[in-house]
Amino acid sequence: MKIATGVEMLEIPATIQGSQTFIYPTLIWDSNTTILIDAGFPGQLAAFKQAIMEGGASFERIDKIIITHHDRDHIGSLRSILNELPQKALVLTHEGERPYIEGRIPPFKATMADAPDSPYPPEMKALFQQQKLDYLDFTVGVDKILEDGEELPFCGGITVIHTPGHTPGHICLYIGKSKTLIAGDALFVVEGDKLGLPPKLASLDWPLAVRSLGKLVRYDVETVVCYHGGAWRGNFSRSIAELAGLQ
Ligand SMILES: [Zn+2]
Repeated sequence: MKIATGVEMLEIPATIQGSQTFIYPTLIWDSNTTILIDAGFPGQLAAFKQAIMEGGASFERIDKIIITHHDRDHIGSLRSILNELPQKALVLTHEGERPYIEGRIPPFKATMADAPDSPYPPEMKALFQQQKLDYLDFTVGVDKILEDGEELPFCGGITVIHTPGHTPGHICLYIGKSKTLIAGDALFVVEGDKLGLPPKLASLDWPLAVRSLGKLVRYDVETVVCYHGGAWRGNFSRSIAELAGLQ
């Protein structure tokens, strides 16, 4: 789905906890660079190539991949996408995500699933324990660390917003030119058309995830791209203030 010129929300079919759904990575490009934001579940290389082609962009021109956080559904096809590209593409993320993406420590959800006081119900526990077995299959080196508030000089300017809580180094990205917020998993589309929070149990520090939303209030947002739920348009400042508990 076209969000703006050079901003395409990719619709990738996925099965999440037994149900058929979609995930929504984003591709941003201009004549100088092509940037993929988030890299899907394992095994989705072909689906990415097809979605990018259908969006009128070029998979081969991807030269940067920004990762919002290290969850399996965001980095699963990262290594296979990098291997398929004709040139070396840079991987960019926040410092808080780096050790997980590089495989130096296991995903924290897998570690928490194994803990005696694990907060997860059995089905979720099994899912996260599985991650511990194969997370090294898709880890890669990180090339550049992104800082909170950093303005990336690509495609007219992309602002990095550190929104910890769901994971330690979770980031959102704001594309000023088209007033688009790439929310990663900081925001979900829920009940068909509402902005909502990520699932409490799937977040490392849920109160922090809620507090982090307060950082988004100052942005003039016309479209939010939620990795889970897709594009949302509406009264952003009011919705985000409500969710962050600011009104
Ligand atoms: Zn996710």
